[in-house]
Amino acid sequence: MTRLTRADLDALPAYVPGRNVADLARELGIAEAVKLASNEVPYGPLPGVVEAVTEAVRAVHRYPDMGVVELRDRIGGRLGVDPARVVTGCGSVALAETLVKATCLPGDEVVYSWRSFEAYPIIAAGAGATSVRVPNTAEHGHDLAAIAAAITDQTRLVFVCNPNNPTGTFLRKAELDRFLADVPSDVLVVLDEAYREFVTDPAVPDGVDTYGDRPNVVVLRTMSKAWGLAGLRMGYLVAQPEVAAAVRKVVTPFSTSLVAQAAALAALDQEPEVHRRCALVVAERSRVTESLRKLSLDVPDSQANFVWLPLGDRTAGFAAACESRGVIVRGFHPEGVRVTIGTPEENDLFLATAEAALT
Ligand code: PMP
Repeated sequence: MTRLTRADLDALPAYVPGRNVADLARELGIAEAVKLASNEVPYGPLPGVVEAVTEAVRAVHRYPDMGVVELRDRIGGRLGVDPARVVTGCGSVALAETLVKATCLPGDEVVYSWRSFEAYPIIAAGAGATSVRVPNTAEHGHDLAAIAAAITDQTRLVFVCNPNNPTGTFLRKAELDRFLADVPSDVLVVLDEAYREFVTDPAVPDGVDTYGDRPNVVVLRTMSKAWGLAGLRMGYLVAQPEVAAAVRKVVTPFSTSLVAQAAALAALDQEPEVHRRCALVVAERSRVTESLRKLSLDVPDSQANFVWLPLGDRTAGFAAACESRGVIVRGFHPEGVRVTIGTPEENDLFLATAEAALT
């Protein structure tokens, strides 16, 4: 048959979403399964969001505001940056893709740690760019010296995920300062801060506050996690005006939907509630980490809303054992398992499951 699509995509691993809870519950014949696989916050939509969505739906025969003016004003005001520097999109993953589109021509290089966010290779390949993967340190974190050393004349963009998905590890300001000083000025560094709201260690810098003025730094954020809008798809980036303007040229038109804009505005009214929910997640993160360490697992400290179990060859078996007990976790064979922090009850169920699976 005549080939219609790119041959190089055949070898590209597909993005694996977390398994559907209802499907698993049906398969196991249990009332409810628990999903701790996609780093969502377990407390439902923020107050006011459902009402805002319901109201916005009345106008869905109209296109959304393509300039996303009101929402960018709110985000810019909250972060203390000019709204001209804010670009929104259909989830931060779409913006990551747009950043590659805005910087790379086919054959240019995109550098990132491995393991890190599984969408990076897909995004790079989609743009025809070449992925350069730099192995994580033995402590499961970014090896910034090796990343800097991997940059060549062909490198156009570097993704640095802080805290890192899926390991939860994090970079401190001193390390990032040193790294950014080493990166050539014509290479764009994307600080992917999808999990910023869960950071409690003051040594981990806020990318916008700390590096927002650097011409070659872009900070990527999402409203999918702490802000509870994963299903609506709303992410944003903060860049220098020139970079933001270039990104805006290639972003998919109207990709921040009318409903997503309304929901994001309503969610931003709920900042105290977001802090309260994040504090619950953070307290549970400590408890889950300590409990897993008691099972002799070498769980690295996490600053995100998930923890990393470096199970190596046991990864697939452990993930399957959890699933057979109704708990969906995310295995990255053959490195480890990522487990999202859920409600205390969900975490208890996972911990009991982990203990049974490991002993
Ligand atoms: N960056 C990282 C590091 C992530 O883990 C995720 C979601 N898993 C995203 C970006 C994308 O988030 P979204 O597209 O939902 O905004």
